[in-house]
Amino acid sequence: MTPVTTFAGRKVALFGLGGSGLATLKALRAGGADVLAWDDSPESAARAREQGFTVSDLRDTDWSEFAALVLAPGVPLTHPAPHWTVDKARAAGIEIIGDIELFCRERARIAPGAPFVAITGTNGKSTTTALVAHILARAGRDVQMGGNIGTAILSLAPPSPDRIHVIELSSFQIDLTPSLDPSVGVLLNVTPDHLDRHGTLDLYAGIKARLIAGSDLAVVGIDDAPSRAIAESVTGALVRVHVGATSPEGGLAARDGAVFEADGARIADLDGIGTLRGAHNWQNAAVAIAAVRSLGLDAASILAGLRTFPGLPHRMEEVGRRGRALFVNDSKATNADSTEKALTAFHDIHWILGGKAKAGGIESLVPLFGRVAHAYLIGAASDAFAATLDGRVPYTRCGTLDVATRAAADAAARSSASEPVVLLSPACASYDQFRSFEDRGDQFRARVKALA
Ligand code: ADP
Repeated sequence: MTPVTTFAGRKVALFGLGGSGLATLKALRAGGADVLAWDDSPESAARAREQGFTVSDLRDTDWSEFAALVLAPGVPLTHPAPHWTVDKARAAGIEIIGDIELFCRERARIAPGAPFVAITGTNGKSTTTALVAHILARAGRDVQMGGNIGTAILSLAPPSPDRIHVIELSSFQIDLTPSLDPSVGVLLNVTPDHLDRHGTLDLYAGIKARLIAGSDLAVVGIDDAPSRAIAESVTGALVRVHVGATSPEGGLAARDGAVFEADGARIADLDGIGTLRGAHNWQNAAVAIAAVRSLGLDAASILAGLRTFPGLPHRMEEVGRRGRALFVNDSKATNADSTEKALTAFHDIHWILGGKAKAGGIESLVPLFGRVAHAYLIGAASDAFAATLDGRVPYTRCGTLDVATRAAADAAARSSASEPVVLLSPACASYDQFRSFEDRGDQFRARVKALA
């Protein structure tokens, strides 16, 4: 744990007692703050109370006593409307911050300049965070990974000069971190997402830009217009990362399954690394290379790390082979954009898709249908998706994942392709048939194991 000492002896209001909220509460108390916590969910409030914390309704409190409101990142700060605690804090004239801000202040106090890699972007945050942490750990570095992935930041060991914090940040977390100042700040991409919570694309990009503005070294993917504009605004050290291009402006380029220097020299071959398939993962790898290089890793250690990256579950995860057929769990693909990445990475695809459809369905994937040998429909979107597939790709209505997995496995076994791929990449939310995308992916993995 990283005790938060910057509020020692002062009163703090904390709202949101989910996983990271509880961790924040513990860290604030360990550092000597007097915290009054609350959550509108009775279960979360009860859980904190059971652990001996003071939990009471912040509506009935005198806010002038508080030095700050510490807010969980899931709680709306601005859009669609500020949460009631935000209104109260503003009326009382106190600052509103999150757990990452508490970490930054603690770092500034106990280990200023300690290595701190902060990673954001609309897509690829978790993969890149895990990859950076893996490369560093394999090279023998003391690494602490967390934030928006896995462990809450204040549950990690405290910053120190020899310890590298590799932290995934959502925009919500950045928005609550006014003094964000990582040694390496990574921005992968900015595409429309979460606009319900950020208002407009400009406002959303503005939040991402704050991470880059505060970084000693900025690593920015420049394949979309907002990210490119952010890169152009950087006045300090900057590494640009392009996908599918040479690097006329300097930086690194990722193309054809490899990462290149600006002068065209090949740095790393990604071909044959199953966990880094597809142009999106080349971007993640190039960005990771830029980050770990700046922390002093040599080429051999970087390559060793890339080659042994285990990948993350549910993101183009290889879950088995049966004869020549490869089985891939991409359950995290809950929209067509994500599924596009998987369809682009494979040929001879036996594609399992469906669930609770998102707006636009799978129309945007039509140009990739040539890669699909057969589609297997599950869940609520079956009718809508059948209409898009009709006349373009042979398909079967399977209803359930179980039926679809067996049908796809049988067809792949009969296929004459050199490596037929049974791909679960649903382009849909999972809630019509599963608890979560993780549940859906776990069930697919279990069924594939049962086939073998
Ligand atoms: P995040 O943590 O930002 O949600 P993940 O690493 O969990 O991202 O990847 C989620 C999905 O986003 C992947 O399954 C893939 O479809 C897509 N993705 C991953 N990396 C990138 C990238 N660099 N650019 C665009 N899409 C990506």
